[in-house]
Amino acid sequence: MSNETLPGAESVAGLDFIRQIVSDDLVAGKHDSIVTRFPPEPNGYLHVGHLKAICLDFGVAREYHGRCNLRMDDTNPTKEDTEYVDSIAGDIRWLGFDFGSEVHYASDYFEKMYECACELIRRGKAYVCDLSAEDWEKYRGDSTRPGANPPGRSRSVEENLALFERMRKGEFEDGAMVLRAAIDMQSPNIHMRDPVIYRIRRAEHFRQGNKWCIYPMYDFAHPLEDAIEGVTHSFCTLEFEIHRPLYDWVLQSLDWPGPPRQIEFSRLALSYTVMSKRKLLQLVKENYVKGWDDPRMPTICGMRRRGMPAAALRNFCTSVGITKVNSVTDVGVLERCVREELNRTAPRRMAVLNPLKVTLKNYPEGKTEYLEAVNNPEDPAAGTRQLPFGRELYIEATDFMMEPPKGYYRLAPGREVRLRYGYFIRCEEVKLDDAGKPVELVCTYDPETRGGNAPDGRKVKGTIHWLSAAHAARASLRLYDRLFSVEAPGADDVDFLTQLNPDSLQTAECLIEPSLLELKAGDTVQFERQGYFCLDPDSTPGSPVFNRTVTLKDSWSKQQGK
Ligand code: ATP
Ligand code: MG
Repeated sequence: MSNETLPGAESVAGLDFIRQIVSDDLVAGKHDSIVTRFPPEPNGYLHVGHLKAICLDFGVAREYHGRCNLRMDDTNPTKEDTEYVDSIAGDIRWLGFDFGSEVHYASDYFEKMYECACELIRRGKAYVCDLSAEDWEKYRGDSTRPGANPPGRSRSVEENLALFERMRKGEFEDGAMVLRAAIDMQSPNIHMRDPVIYRIRRAEHFRQGNKWCIYPMYDFAHPLEDAIEGVTHSFCTLEFEIHRPLYDWVLQSLDWPGPPRQIEFSRLALSYTVMSKRKLLQLVKENYVKGWDDPRMPTICGMRRRGMPAAALRNFCTSVGITKVNSVTDVGVLERCVREELNRTAPRRMAVLNPLKVTLKNYPEGKTEYLEAVNNPEDPAAGTRQLPFGRELYIEATDFMMEPPKGYYRLAPGREVRLRYGYFIRCEEVKLDDAGKPVELVCTYDPETRGGNAPDGRKVKGTIHWLSAAHAARASLRLYDRLFSVEAPGADDVDFLTQLNPDSLQTAECLIEPSLLELKAGDTVQFERQGYFCLDPDSTPGSPVFNRTVTLKDSWSKQQGK
């Protein structure tokens, strides 16, 4: 996203290998402009793996002033649905990418694909095969043995055309026969041994209804979808490398002019995360999470609800980069990108999670004054706000200790600290409950220290956050941690459901600045010294619910280090 490379620009050092290819092609005048596509199957919600592909497909198109099509790869009729189409389109727009005014559908090309299949038959490059699966095994061979030409190979073009038409008309049972590409039964690449390109499948398609009972296979359909849309560069993950000869074969066999080029890159894998659609679906269906957009899910909608900004997700992809090397990315990298973005953009507010009452015995009863607080020290344009201050305050219980250990600079009996944006206060007396737990601190404040500095130059080491007891509002918190407690859930055939982190969601009540009651769902703030929080859509007027997006520091790696 960051480097606005111009088409035809000199190759720039630091480009990833895909951008280098695109850049070279433009310099060489191979294309007037480039076209990419993002081709999700509408059978699930987009996840952080798709994010990597989206940032590449749309990012390259944007940087080189080309176009990226959003294309639903809806050639498998059984699991697809418009619910998914809508969520996919919404997620991509939210990420800040533009796919123009229309969504493309592979199923819109079914007629054209059927014609292409007929053309292959006419050219002697496809044939109907009615071998049972068992018999096909015998002809196919395996990785050590070459295959042999199946009987269907010798059928005439006329016969094949007639049979294929009857397949389309529904004259045969599901699975009774298939259309195969006539390539090379001897090929060392098993995908090139006369692969199936059409199968009979009676299933209602969510857009085509029952119009079709034959459906094209991915390896045949995908190059055609790309070619029909004028795609110049078709990016996909490494597992498709071995399918590339077939991708090229389909278009060559049809003499397609200016065929698109498939280029593979390594897929994203994240520690502490599962990404397979099947597993994500299971988490939702079996209620391990509260839905696709549960803030613990690695879905785009889940990360959004969690409060992760779109810019942070894009930056994450930039920092992961594009290579051909498979590796696992530490989920901490994602968290760091979120922290960096929110540090720049999130307004600071006060919230007290474990309140301890403080009474300032020398502050006038019933008086309220307003103290100026900086909204975001990283962003002067964010301005300031007025914080109400009075005789009774709440501070964080953990900011006080009866017997402070060495290195603890916060409040303790007899000790003085700074209230953020406020005054110095000194703890004069501690009221304890029957169990000996502090319930109230009686303090004095120094009126000379308004704004946080003493005119006599005396220093305090600790600065703590606080709220005016008379003004504080209540809020509910959802404190999230990683959904899984192991780095590689599901590895070594362990059931990933046994590796869920039992503490991935904890709830708490807290006190907040009254100004936070004006936030809208989706707004993100930093609760000073606590972390970044995002207002959840479950909030109702007067009863805000905040999701913890991420803690301020990487508390996890600290914990692990111990
Ligand atoms: P899953 O394996 O979770 O079912 P999929 O690859 O089948 O995912 P698609 O909807 O077909 O899901 O994916 C759309 C695009 O996103 C494809 O181009 C695919 O290569 C890419 N993609 C999916 N997962 C990842 C990943 N982990 N890293 C990078 N790209 C991915
Ligand atoms: Mg797929």
